[in-house]
Amino acid sequence: MQYKDIEQEFINRYKYLYINAKYILAPFIYKETREEKDRFIRRISEFNSRLALSTDDGLSVFIRLIDKKVLSDVESFLLSDIPYNESKLYLELEEKKKDSDFLLECKNNLELLSRENNNIIPNLTKLLKEVKSFIELQSGMLFIRNKKILALEQYQLLDKYKNEDSISYISNNNTWCMVEEKKKRKKKRYNEYQALETSNFINYVSSDAARYDYNGCILTEDQKQDIYLEFHDELPWNLEIECNGSDSKIIKAGNTSPCGNSFYIKEDEIFVNPYDSEHRYYHLCPCCGYMVNIPKEVLTPGVISRIEKRCLDEDYSFERMVKVSHYYSFRDRRIFKQDKIKKLINK
Ligand SMILES: [Zn+2]
Repeated sequence: MQYKDIEQEFINRYKYLYINAKYILAPFIYKETREEKDRFIRRISEFNSRLALSTDDGLSVFIRLIDKKVLSDVESFLLSDIPYNESKLYLELEEKKKDSDFLLECKNNLELLSRENNNIIPNLTKLLKEVKSFIELQSGMLFIRNKKILALEQYQLLDKYKNEDSISYISNNNTWCMVEEKKKRKKKRYNEYQALETSNFINYVSSDAARYDYNGCILTEDQKQDIYLEFHDELPWNLEIECNGSDSKIIKAGNTSPCGNSFYIKEDEIFVNPYDSEHRYYHLCPCCGYMVNIPKEVLTPGVISRIEKRCLDEDYSFERMVKVSHYYSFRDRRIFKQDKIKKLINK
């Protein structure tokens, strides 16, 4: 694989697994049997009868140990030089997804897990964690394992992206310490699964040269945000709007007037004017308190439905927000912070 293709391939692999991780994990969702539970309680009671008595009698649902062949396929999918849509994992999974029995089994298992166990979410985060442990326990040279982990951590960095003004970063040193630490704790290794030795992909993605200094990632924050927003119906955290009010039809509070500054729109602070379907959404300017109209086109369907739902609540009723905005016009025009507006709303 050529270096110039690796970035796009990395993104393709991430997106594919983001959507499909549940199909890889679902077959391993398991509900323990009565006998297994009884055996477990008997074993506990041998050394602590009180603990045995207090143990919940219900049957647990969890994701059991994932087959190492599967983990090996996922590792190869993520780190080898084979394009993602020619990989064994991809070809086999796409074939399986044509089978209605397989899809039904996945659906039932996923429903069972979400009903009985809220602590485990069968998503990409979980899958990456499993693959990472799998690599850490492989035999072979620590040097190669570490490079594979560094490459894998790039997927985890992307997976950790949050739509807010902060950068998550995993340092190299952590990885080294962690691998060494695990090496001390767990001696047993998977001799038969040295899996991937190395690849252009691993060499490139794990290298310092491929990563941006400011976020330690091979993608920029904008690239990460774009990928995140493909899967989450949210407003970008850094979406700016100008505080202006040229349209005379837009309602304003008292004699307030726009200050012309730009600010970030926050979904939580947008409120609804229920009497106007055209100019329906507003946001108080954090600089001057002016009610800035947010054009509908800026908002996505999920965002709109959450705002509408929240604004049924009294605290954000339109009349109340008009009063808050009006209150601003009696104050001097020093720069107000967002949290001061919040305090006013809650008064
Ligand atoms: Zn303003």
